[in-house]
Amino acid sequence: MYRVAVVSGKGGTGKTFIASSLTILISQGSSVVSIDADVEAPDLEIALGGGDVIEVKELYEGRVAEVSYERCFRCLKCAEVCRFGAVSVLEGNVPVIDKYLCEGCGACSIVCPSGAISYVPSKLGTMKVVRTKFGYLVTASLDLGRRGSGHLVELEKSRGLELAKESDAKFIVLDGPPGIGCPLIATVVDADYVVIVTEPTPQALHGLARVAEVVKFFGKKFGVVINKFDVNEEYCTLVEKWCKEHGGSILGSLPYDRCVVEAYTRVTPPLLYCKERKSPCFEAMVSIYENLLRDLGV
Ligand code: SF4
Ligand code: SF4
Repeated sequence: MYRVAVVSGKGGTGKTFIASSLTILISQGSSVVSIDADVEAPDLEIALGGGDVIEVKELYEGRVAEVSYERCFRCLKCAEVCRFGAVSVLEGNVPVIDKYLCEGCGACSIVCPSGAISYVPSKLGTMKVVRTKFGYLVTASLDLGRRGSGHLVELEKSRGLELAKESDAKFIVLDGPPGIGCPLIATVVDADYVVIVTEPTPQALHGLARVAEVVKFFGKKFGVVINKFDVNEEYCTLVEKWCKEHGGSILGSLPYDRCVVEAYTRVTPPLLYCKERKSPCFEAMVSIYENLLRDLGV
């Protein structure tokens, strides 16, 4: 089984288009499971045209404190002891715990003289399994204000692996998050190959260099896709030079194409829309896929 992670140093580079297109192209010849690891802004489900939701699971991690106002006699010892600023005090000395700031450390319940503080599990997010036309998709969204996106990606990967074994999948495609934080590390750490998507702009090249540093730290093989190459063709030479110097292969380039945007507005997989419209993006994407297989030695 091959695990291919699609990432980028910055958002909006076309990463989900590449991940969904690879999933679709792979699904024509073998079974594939896709995972949306961009848990703060998941949209791979839309790029794959949706499907039947066959599983929904709420995920919890840690705990948060809760006050029973029937037992509380407003001494405010909890507010004094909290080092995370999670207890604010309303008029009448009423303590209120902010679930986004509470670390569940337990100090407030230790000092509370009336036993008014208890704990409830803290919701991390929601994970779904969707049966798309192109195989199973595991997608998840992190709850507002929560940390733990890396952990959520780990949970998605475990479910994705189970589904890949059940369906005898040859590939797992991960649509990674932008940036270089915990969810990016969770996305690439056990990948067999990392596709880094960039654009011919200084910001995107800077993002490429940062994300490649992480990828190389984990000893991963990587290839680069230059999206919207025709926006600044001269800059592509710089990206190619950078790849040569840093050991990445160039998987290919995609032109700027309004078809991709139009496809999203119609909730149609952009690759299929590009094919229907005879857009050059389709052939370019097929070539990127073939180069990926070549690099993987498949
Ligand atoms: S320490 Fe306990 S009794 Fe005192 S204000 Fe806090 S919750 Fe109420
Ligand atoms: S559990 Fe810890 S972080 Fe949460 S309110 Fe109590 S003292 Fe503050």
